[in-house]
Amino acid sequence: MLNIVLFGPPGAGKGTQSERLIAKYDLVHLSTGDIFRSNIKGETDLGKLAKSYMDQGQLVPDSVTIDMLRSEVLKHENTNGFIFDGFPRTNAQAEALDAFLDSLNTSITLMVALEVEENELKTRLMKRAEVSGRADDANPEVIANRIAVYNNETAPVKSFYQNQNKFVAIDGIGSIDDITLRIFSAIDPHL
Ligand code: ADP
Repeated sequence: MLNIVLFGPPGAGKGTQSERLIAKYDLVHLSTGDIFRSNIKGETDLGKLAKSYMDQGQLVPDSVTIDMLRSEVLKHENTNGFIFDGFPRTNAQAEALDAFLDSLNTSITLMVALEVEENELKTRLMKRAEVSGRADDANPEVIANRIAVYNNETAPVKSFYQNQNKFVAIDGIGSIDDITLRIFSAIDPHL
């Protein structure tokens, strides 16, 4: 299996690049943010809980997120692999994911980290707010909070994969096509 963690701060382009990766490598895309948003739309209990955190730019608690991710993975028995987008976002999530994949006799192949500097991220998110309808994109305070949470809680997850020699950083500035090609060249040697 090819299991990619697509990593990067809010607004780094994970969603856009995921679409390219799914098409090329025939993978299942699991975006925890998308799954939470569809639960919010469906007004499920999980959605109500997630919304209270997401609207503040805070992380949804690990236990809830990990359980949800596990059940999503189990829905796709015969896939070539997964793109994990927006997960793991804490070291506890990364450890849980490793243990879970191990129990399925598979593992993470590579973490691909999109690197974009903070001012560019803020500009992109404010722009995305005009079309996404996402409450967490529209409010500068919430954006600042998401970036702070990323720096404090999520950025350390890089070392988790660096320690396993599974980390590659990609320059996330440039045209969408150029960035896609950079990611392909990082992944292809692992096929
Ligand atoms: P972005 O990367 O643009 O911030 P996402 O769609 O990945 O957007 O996530 C939106 C929100 O969903 C996050 O700010 C957080 O509240 C919640 N969320 C998504 N993934 C996770 C996760 N792995 N752990 C905890 N909370 C998460």
